[in-house]
Parts: sequence; C-alpha cells; structure tokens
Amino acid sequence: MHFTEPVYRNPYWPTWPLIQITQGCTHNRCKFCTMYKDVPFRMQPIDWLEQDLKELRAAAPHAKTIQLLSANPLAPTYDRLMPRLELIREYLPELEHMYCATRVSDLKNKTVEQLRRLKEVGVDEISLGVESGDDWTLQRINKGYTAQDILEQCHKLEEAGIRYWMTFLNGVAGREHSHEHAVNSALIFNQCKPMLVGTGGLTLFPGTPLLEEARRGEFTPLTERELMLELKDFLEALTCDCELNTHHTSSMNLSGPFLARKQQILEDLQYGLDHFDMDELTNVRQNKQTL
Ligand code: SF4
Repeated sequence: MHFTEPVYRNPYWPTWPLIQITQGCTHNRCKFCTMYKDVPFRMQPIDWLEQDLKELRAAAPHAKTIQLLSANPLAPTYDRLMPRLELIREYLPELEHMYCATRVSDLKNKTVEQLRRLKEVGVDEISLGVESGDDWTLQRINKGYTAQDILEQCHKLEEAGIRYWMTFLNGVAGREHSHEHAVNSALIFNQCKPMLVGTGGLTLFPGTPLLEEARRGEFTPLTERELMLELKDFLEALTCDCELNTHHTSSMNLSGPFLARKQQILEDLQYGLDHFDMDELTNVRQNKQTL
C-alpha cells in the first residue's frame, strides 16, 4: 500500500481498509497545525491507486466501508475525483460507505448535483474540521474561509443528503476572544444540521505559528479551567440535534446524544470546574504529541 506519512485515520470510523487518494493538504496554513507541512498536496498517482486497490481486493474483497485519505481528499474537482471513486467501486463492489475528512472550502467547487453523485458512489458521511464559526477567529487562525462559507457549504451537503460532522476547536481564539469564539460558533452550528459535533482542546504543538505567537506574547492560550469554561459557553448556546463527541484531557464523558443529555453534560462540566485538579490536566496536555 502507498501511504505518505503522516497517516491520520478517524478512529470513530472503521480504521481499515484505508486508501489514500490525495497526499498532504491543499491549504497547509492553519496556524495550529503542522501535520502536513512537509507534504505538498498532490493527487495520488493513478498507478499507485490501482496497485493498492488490487491489494485491497485480495485482502478485503467484501469490504463494506473504506476511509479515504489524506487531509482533504474531496479538494479536487468533481471531474478529477469521480473517476478515482468509481475505480474504488470497481475493485470493491460491495462498498456501502466511503468516509473522509475534508475542508469546508473543498465543497465550493462542486454543485449540489455533483455532491449527490458523490453520495451515490458511497461518499455519504464526511467530517469537516470547521474549528470555529466566528469570523474574527477564522481569520486569526488562517482557516481560509468565513462563517458564511460554512453555512453555504453545509446547506449544500444537506441538500445532497450527505451526513457531516462539524468540529469546534476549544481554545483556538485565545483568551481575548474566547467568549465570542464560543457563542458565535454555536450560532453558526445551530443553523446547520450536523449528525455529530466534535470538540477538542487546543494543544500548541512545536513548529506551529500559534506557539511562536504565544512565545512572543501575541497569543494567550487558555488554561485548562478557561478551556472548560469556553466549552461550557459553547455547549450552553448549542441547540443542534446531534451526537456530541468530546476529547478532553480529563476522563469526563460528555459524549452521546446532545440535546437529550445537554443538562447533564453542563452539570458534568460544572462538576469538573469545581473539583478537577487543573495542574494534572495541564500536565496531560503538555505531554500530548499529536492531535
Ligand atoms: S488543520 Fe486541516 S486544513 Fe488546516 S492545515 Fe491542518 S490539515 Fe490542512
């Protein structure tokens, strides 16, 4: 199999089989991310794709699911993408679901009709690393799209019948803009219909522009307590009828059907704020090596 490091697979979907159809990230400029900084974006060479598919056909001829890699495999235009997806179906005819992460902006070059056809070949659930719905924050972290873009592209997915996840990156606006990031993100998410909202706390990894800014005093990271308060602000304002998935440094389990558990989730967060050892949580975050 031909994989270009780093290989990130979403652990909440079946993690095998996988197939890389693009390499790197078209954007590569988010200030908190270095994941693909040494990997220029390109389409996976077609002969590599065919060789990999032959291997997969031998190893998993009845595969029902597959994850498409890498950072944003839906970035290419429909005309470049579709033949590759059809090739995958040719080799694995029993596939029912093709899962992938992608950027909000990757959907701009596709019509609703084209998205519908992507769904027909199996792309029926995608994860969008939205991070924020607040324009100040999106610009500050160099995300490369606006809140209006999020609304427009998510509504296209809804029309096409493709389920999607939205992520909220807790802490990415820093201390100065934390409340606006939380509340304005919820306002935008509330106008969409994600099947799942995922949240993770910002960790400043070596090599990221945001860490450099923090060292120069231009960005003030949130403490663990402030991260929890911001998450609480976000969840209080969130009204999406979705699943919730949180990756927190504590063992708090906030995941599950969101609206049905909202009150309990907010109470659990308050319990954490009142009782958790924040120094211990800081240590856990400082020892994190990857997202
Ligand atoms: S966060 Fe995603 S879109 Fe941004 S640079 Fe990293 S891989 Fe690319």
